[in-house]
Amino acid sequence: MKMIYPLKTLFVLFSCLFLAQQAVDAKNLVLISVDTLRKDRVGVYLDSKSLTPNMDRLAAQSVLFTEAFTVVPLTSPSMCSVMTGLPPALHGSERNGLAKNEKVLTLAAVLRGLGYDTAAFVSNWTLKAHLCGLNQGFSLYDDQMEDKRWAGLIKGETSAKAINDKAIPWLEREAKEPFFLWVHYTEPHAPYVYHESFAEDSSNRGVRGRYDTEVAFVDHHIGLFLERLDALFPADSTTVVLIADHGESLGEHNYVGHGRQVYDPMMRVPLMIRDPSLTAGQRSSILFPLIDLAKTCMDLMSLQGAAGLGGRSELPVLRGEDSPRKWIFMETHRGAAVGRADGKDDKPRDDPTHLAVYAPPWKAIYELKPKKLLLFQMQEDPGEERNLAKTEENDRAQALYELLMGWYTQQTPLKKQGRHRPLSSKDTEALRSLGYIR
Ligand SMILES: [Zn+2]
Repeated sequence: MKMIYPLKTLFVLFSCLFLAQQAVDAKNLVLISVDTLRKDRVGVYLDSKSLTPNMDRLAAQSVLFTEAFTVVPLTSPSMCSVMTGLPPALHGSERNGLAKNEKVLTLAAVLRGLGYDTAAFVSNWTLKAHLCGLNQGFSLYDDQMEDKRWAGLIKGETSAKAINDKAIPWLEREAKEPFFLWVHYTEPHAPYVYHESFAEDSSNRGVRGRYDTEVAFVDHHIGLFLERLDALFPADSTTVVLIADHGESLGEHNYVGHGRQVYDPMMRVPLMIRDPSLTAGQRSSILFPLIDLAKTCMDLMSLQGAAGLGGRSELPVLRGEDSPRKWIFMETHRGAAVGRADGKDDKPRDDPTHLAVYAPPWKAIYELKPKKLLLFQMQEDPGEERNLAKTEENDRAQALYELLMGWYTQQTPLKKQGRHRPLSSKDTEALRSLGYIR
């Protein structure tokens, strides 16, 4: 028995040396997440005139993924899925205002454990540390919100310019390599601001016109950020990832916003990964749910220690060494878990309102209240307007429903994991300003 302790000590020593060696050789990782950015507003995905020359430039240096999806179209749940590799029921942040379970590991915590310097600059109230729990693993988590874009009293956002004004000095003066930096830009989240100097057509000040100026505005600031990043750190030392946490419905299915449906405008997201080991300018159409991003990044950086994260690396698929996913699952919940002054709450853990499975070219959506099954052939009907569930395709709809419910019910025993405390009046007002509470 006496030998156990020296052996254990040796093992710890070797582990530390191994982890330290990984960190010495490791690349930096920069994650840029853009709130509410529709894939079809990023010019590189289209043939039309681009609103996003800077994101297009990054795409030309990256692998561009054309079939990337969020698992849930809500900010905190989605970013918790990105950082943990898990769907909402398994990390616990199923709605905005519900923090993820403290015991669930994040990418930042893994990287910090490997010796990374970790910093985040976030700009959406739902990403406040006490509301989402994503500060876990970050030695600096800046969630100060100094801007407001509506008539309320709360300053519930940080503009793209203000994010740069904090993140760039951090890169210039404080970052110690290797580092993991996460910047989250809140534009083009509602309420959409009309940015005069970024308007293509000054007569278009409607929802789409204002939204588009927000996209051009955030793209400009992403360009400034990337210019400084590249001047400070050579591209071969740094992996850069750009995503949206979810998209936005701009009137499709009679809805403006996100979170209440699982149609494509909200679920499809831009995804580009720039890394010296990848082929710049490559396009990939593999199914890529954002829950696979954390492990893919770990794999790209040749780092061990991803076992505690969910999802899987898509790198072997990209290299043609493994088969792509045949289907992916999606869900949504009511927008925010709301607190009450009496200390009770509004049943923060509720069932999802919609579930979906996408098995190209078929997509089945199951609405829970009232119960309704929908089936779409996405190649022939990308607008998801012709429900084929009660047609000759009914057997297919039922098979996808079984697949979907199998996935969902498997998760049920693991629910109730997250942390919820009733929201303060300040939190409630901020979430209302973002449209999550009506
Ligand atoms: Zn969001």
